[in-house]
Amino acid sequence: MTATLHTPLQNYIGGQWLQVPAADTLAVTNPATGELLTHVPLSSPTEIDKAVDAARNAYKIWGLTPVATRCRPLFRLATLLREHGDELARTLTREMGKSLPDAGAELKRATENVEVACGMPSLIQGENVIGCADGIDGEVIRLPIGVFGIITPFNFPLMVPFWFLPYAVAAGNTVVLKCSEQVPMTMNRVMELIEQAGFPDGVVYLVHGDKIAAQALLEHNDVDGISFVGSSTIARHVAKTCADHGKRYQALGSAKNYLVVMPDAPREKVVANMLTSSLGCAGQRCMAASVIACVGDETYDEIVERFVTAAKKAVVGDPLDPALANEGLVIGPVISAAAKQRIEQLIDQGVAEGEKLLVDGRNHQVQGKSGGHYVGPTIFVDVKPGSTLEQTEIFGPVVIIMKFDSLDDAIAAINNHPFGNGASIYTQSGHHARRFKLEAQAGMIGINVGIPAPVAYLPFGGMKKSIYADIKAQGRAGVNFFTESKIVTQRYWPSL
Ligand code: NAD
Repeated sequence: MTATLHTPLQNYIGGQWLQVPAADTLAVTNPATGELLTHVPLSSPTEIDKAVDAARNAYKIWGLTPVATRCRPLFRLATLLREHGDELARTLTREMGKSLPDAGAELKRATENVEVACGMPSLIQGENVIGCADGIDGEVIRLPIGVFGIITPFNFPLMVPFWFLPYAVAAGNTVVLKCSEQVPMTMNRVMELIEQAGFPDGVVYLVHGDKIAAQALLEHNDVDGISFVGSSTIARHVAKTCADHGKRYQALGSAKNYLVVMPDAPREKVVANMLTSSLGCAGQRCMAASVIACVGDETYDEIVERFVTAAKKAVVGDPLDPALANEGLVIGPVISAAAKQRIEQLIDQGVAEGEKLLVDGRNHQVQGKSGGHYVGPTIFVDVKPGSTLEQTEIFGPVVIIMKFDSLDDAIAAINNHPFGNGASIYTQSGHHARRFKLEAQAGMIGINVGIPAPVAYLPFGGMKKSIYADIKAQGRAGVNFFTESKIVTQRYWPSL
C-alpha cells in the first residue's frame, strides 16, 4: 500500500484508503524551496460523517477488547516508527521545513508516547476502598468513552497527534484524526504504518481537510470528545463549540515564552541554550523562547551583546541542503508565504511603534532558494511589557530582549501576560529557582532548560489562555481524558 504516492492524498476510513469525491484540494509545497509535493483534499462534512459512523460501529467491539490486546498493535507501531525513522524525518522536514535533527527529535517523542500508552493495562487501573462504611466498599473504575476527534497544528505534524492517539486507542476508544492541511504527508505515511501495525479496521481514521472538516468533527453528535492543538483563538472556539455540543475537550493554544536570565547565570552556556530555543525550528515551536528577560543592567548589556553576535552567525537555509549537513543550528523556512508576510508585518509594526531593532531578518534571501519562505533572525531590544511585540505570539525567528530591575518584576511581567505556556529561569540560586517554579504562571517551567517540554510520561500543557481545558496532554493526563471514571458504592447483603 503506497497511499502517500497518490495525489491528491486519500482519506483512511474503516481500514481503506479512499479518494475524496469532488473535493477541492490544496497544494502542499516544500517551504524551503517552493517545490510542489502533493495535493491535499479538503474533505466535506459528508466525509467526516462517513468516518464517524464507521468509528462508532468499530467502537462497539474495540471498547470491549481486552486492554492488553488493544496494546499489541502499539508495540508493533513503536518498532515500525523506529524502523522508518529516517524516511519519516525526511518527509516531515520536506513538508514542514524544520531541521532533520528536530524532525528526528519529534519522531522520538511521538514514539515515546506510543511506548507509554503500551502501559495502559497498568495506567487504566482504578482505585478502591474496602470498608467506606459498615459492609460498604467504594470503587473507581475507568472506562473507554467512544469516538474522539483529534485536530492538530502544522508545527509538529508527527508529535502532536501522538500526544493523544496512542492513549485514546489503548484506552478503548476509536479515533478520527484531522491533521493540519499544511502538513498532511507525514501523518498520511504514519497511517500506513498504523495499518501495518495491525489495528483492526475502523479503530483509527485520517480525514484530510481544513476548518470545515474540523468544524464538522466539533459539531458531530457521535463524537464524544475533542483533543485540539493550535492557536488560542481557535482553541477558544473549539472549547465553546464542544461545550455547546456536550463533548469533553482539551484545547491547547498559543504561547509567548519567557526566559529569565539572573545575574549569576553562566553567560556562555545560557546564550547557546537560548539560541536553540528561540531560533530553532525558525521560532515555530509552542515552547520557543520569544522573550529574553534580563535581570539587572549588567546582565542585560552582556546578554544583548553575546546573543546578537551568536544570532548573526546562525545559518539560514534549506535544512535538506547537503552543504549545511554539518552546521549546528540551521534556521529553516517558515511554513508559508502567508506566515512570512505576517511575521514581517509584525516586525514592521514593532519598528513603527518605535521599538529598537538590532538585527533585522526581513527580506532574507537564501541563494538558489527563491521559492522558499525565509525570515532571518530578528532581535528587538529594550522592549517593554504591554507592547505589541511583547503581547503577540509572532511564531517566527523573532526575539525580544527586555530589562528588569528584579526577579519580582520579571515574574510580574510573566504573570500579567495572557499566555502561560512555558517559562524558564537561568540561575545558580536554588532560592530564586524555587520562587520561580512556584510563582511564575506558566504550565511548563524550566530551570536552566531553554525548552522545558515534558517527556511523554509527564503531562504537557500550559496555563491561562494557552489552554482551554483543565486536563493536559500525554501520560496519565491522557488516560484521564480518554476514560470516564465511574465511582461505585456497593454493598451485598448476606444471601437469605
Ligand atoms: P491553527 O489554529 O491555525 O490550526 C490548528 C488546526 O485547527 C488545524 O488543523 C486547522 O485546520 C484547524 N482550524 C483552523 N481554523 C479552524 C476553525 N475555525 N475551526 C476549527 N478548526 C480550525 O494553528 P497552526 O497555525 O496550525 O499552529 C500554530 C499554533 O499552534 C501556534 O499558535 C502555536 O503556539 C500552537 N501550538 C500550541 C501547542 C501547545 O502545546 N500549546 C503546540 C503546538 C502548536
